Amino acid sequence: MAIERTLSIIKPDAIAKNVVGDIIRRFEENGLSVVATRRIHLTAEQAGRFYAVHKDRPFFGPLCAFMSSGPILAMVLEGKNAVRLNRQLMGATNPKEADAGTIRADHAESIDANAVHGSDSLENAATEISFFFADIDIYSS
Ligand code: ADP
Ligand code: MG
Repeated sequence: MAIERTLSIIKPDAIAKNVVGDIIRRFEENGLSVVATRRIHLTAEQAGRFYAVHKDRPFFGPLCAFMSSGPILAMVLEGKNAVRLNRQLMGATNPKEADAGTIRADHAESIDANAVHGSDSLENAATEISFFFADIDIYSS
């Protein structure tokens, strides 16, 4: 199994609920290490650039408004199969469909306010990490 890096974001709803520690605990207990962190309040324009892949979707406007509604915590997670493992720990996009015990099942309210973001492929992980972090901001354990 390859050691990978992936981008995780704790979204404004989960920041407002003060569950940062619980979410990071789940990553660490499952073998992922937090190797970079950045707390930032995106503008709607920055959120739109991050989610440009969704620009033609009907939910794009509300998504950008939500992601810029409060601070977020962007993180780089590192570990074996980090991309897939993070997606498993997150659960399905719609919390109503998320497996019991996943982050979204436990902390998300709706499909738009769904607590966390995670890269969906190794290629997208590299692009998304570079959106928030320079190489010198990331320190492996
Ligand atoms: P994921 O975050 O699970 O990778 P997507 O990449 O498909 O999901 O979508 C990005 C984000 O856009 C979702 O996390 C969610 O916040 C929002 N979103 C996706 N689909 C919908 C929808 N049908 N209605 C409202 N918001 C949505
Ligand atoms: Mg996605």
